[in-house]
Amino acid sequence: MERVYNFSPGPSQLALPVLEKAQKDLVCYGDTGMSVMEMSHRSKMYTDIYDKTVADLRDLMNIPEDYDVVFLQGGATQQFSAVPLNLMVNKKADYIDSGNFAHLAAEEGKRYGEVNVVASSREDVYTYIPDLDAIKFTEDADYVHITQNNTIYGTRFVELPKCKAPIVCDASSMILSEEMDVTKYGAIYAGAQKNIGPSGLCVLIVKHDLVGHAMDICPKLLNWQIQVEKGSMYNTPNTWGIYLAGLTFEWLKSIGGVKAVEAVNIQKAAMLYDFLDNSKLFKATAQPKYRSRMNVTFVTGDADKDAAFVKAAAAEGLVNLKGHRSVGGMRASIYNAMPIEGVEKLVAFMKKFESENA
Ligand code: PMP
Repeated sequence: MERVYNFSPGPSQLALPVLEKAQKDLVCYGDTGMSVMEMSHRSKMYTDIYDKTVADLRDLMNIPEDYDVVFLQGGATQQFSAVPLNLMVNKKADYIDSGNFAHLAAEEGKRYGEVNVVASSREDVYTYIPDLDAIKFTEDADYVHITQNNTIYGTRFVELPKCKAPIVCDASSMILSEEMDVTKYGAIYAGAQKNIGPSGLCVLIVKHDLVGHAMDICPKLLNWQIQVEKGSMYNTPNTWGIYLAGLTFEWLKSIGGVKAVEAVNIQKAAMLYDFLDNSKLFKATAQPKYRSRMNVTFVTGDADKDAAFVKAAAAEGLVNLKGHRSVGGMRASIYNAMPIEGVEKLVAFMKKFESENA
């Protein structure tokens, strides 16, 4: 059976060389006589895989020495709780509400301290990123939380807030898709199932001096200090997920790293938005300045036509184009592993559908 172009927002398409390598190693990894899934996480054969995975991520993102890197479980959502539990020393934090996940993160933060939603685009169905220059940050906030790319609404921050408190960033749907200056952040976390590997895994990059201030009530598994000290192995980590993340990092390095993939991502997004801006049928929904390069959201304006489009596209091997259930319409998620040919094929199909339905 032929593989499709999978535009799913996550779990999403992985790079084919990653899957092929995993398939080759599935039963016997190298000369170990066993699958990675069967290795003790404390064995040398596995810690070698783990150490290389961390080193490759450090290399790809140019992560400075004074930042820790750990691979955690519970997806990005777990960090909605871990962030306040680890960082709310003054019991106060600012959140920018730029989408559904940003909103959920803020709501979770409220369980542990005072959360100030300092800016929000919720009233306008999150079609833009709030004006960062107009924000009054809380003087003694422990951190400012942002969701740098909003997966459901297809928007991205084009700059970072100018604030005194450390920026804590949910980078789930944009990590490794564009260069990030890690030194501008206090912490970056990302669920793996878009640009890294399988779901359930979460990467955390945190400035070392922010580690070690967890609340007494913080569960051990969510305590960043414990996870850092134990090298992500306080308990048995998601060994297979980390291994696949490592394969993705190797693949990304082999195609030129983040800078190279960012150039391709810009090209892929531009192809779609250029078409949408000139279309007689389709319309992009996010405000142009804040358009995501990873999640391109669009509508026809007619729910029946939207449904017909999604169905017809799937029949052509262009799958998972339905928008999130809360907003409807369409969404093409074009993460790193989506080749340019997939986007070309999608645009060609949209043109055809337009000529038959406009
Ligand atoms: N944040 C963002 C920006 C997301 O897109 C998602 C999931 N798609 C999450 C958080 C939640 O991630 P998880 O399901 O891994 O907890």
